[in-house]
Amino acid sequence: MTNTIKVNKLKFSYGKKQVLREVNFEVQSGKVVGLIGENGAGKTTLLKILLGLLKTNSNVSILGHRPGTSQSVSSMFQGDLKLPSVNVLEILSEVAAQYPNPRKPQAVLEELNLADLARQRLNGLSGGQLRRITFAMTLVGNADLIFLDEPTVGMDVNARQDFWDNVSKLKNAGKTILITSHYLEEIQQTADQILILKDGKIEFDGTLNELQRRYLTTKISFETKLSKTIFAELKHVQSLKQMGEKIVINSTNGDATLQTLVPYLKELQHLNITDASLESIFQTITQKGENNA
Ligand code: ADP
Repeated sequence: MTNTIKVNKLKFSYGKKQVLREVNFEVQSGKVVGLIGENGAGKTTLLKILLGLLKTNSNVSILGHRPGTSQSVSSMFQGDLKLPSVNVLEILSEVAAQYPNPRKPQAVLEELNLADLARQRLNGLSGGQLRRITFAMTLVGNADLIFLDEPTVGMDVNARQDFWDNVSKLKNAGKTILITSHYLEEIQQTADQILILKDGKIEFDGTLNELQRRYLTTKISFETKLSKTIFAELKHVQSLKQMGEKIVINSTNGDATLQTLVPYLKELQHLNITDASLESIFQTITQKGENNA
């Protein structure tokens, strides 16, 4: 496996406002990477640097080249292109012509179930359709490395599902994909590598399993007539909430906590155990930061 992206000690400021303090990470080819962080964390700024749209003296390598110089990169940013008199096929052909090894626009439209829109003018499309055509524009270049900034904003549930299915297909075709998203649950299902950007640094870089191990919490919920104080004192219980007869425990070691629950099992109903979602881990990391501040 080769490194598609290498970022070493990247710093970036808009004037006096420092957005990236020291960003270090590498991405291997064929991986789907989820870049997450709060609003304003610097995700779009980082993507723009990787694309060569913002200049930096720091050490950044994209497919072995300086950012902005490789022809095998494509990107989808927030906001869609609006050229009133151009139809879908024309714009896709125009984009394809910029790449050395493009795909046939018609084939991309068919793959995305958008063939019906081929002759439609861009200004006649709905917001959701336009978003999907923007995605088609990203694919038509057949680039090896694809950057997607908040790609599913404005898509309905079905379109979003289709979108993530297509990301999986791209991955199977060996593409490397870096995605920023607010839909953390979706990234959780798709990403091989998760990068969490916080305070101008990569706070976490690894797989979902590693993230869960590092910030491991298991949610154990049940209903019981027993006192909550019994459960608050069990091993590895990080927090406990009570809503009527329902108790929800967050444990830093789910297996160990479960074992200590065994003597009470007969008194528990609707026992449910789930691993922490990316969403809740992300909140934990963010809250940790706030407490430290
Ligand atoms: P994210 O994509 O994570 O929401 P951005 O990269 O868009 O974050 O922005 C990071 C920070 O940089 C924010 O505080 C934002 O206001 C600021 N910023 C973004 N673009 C500019 C710009 N062109 N000039 C000055 N500040 C900017």
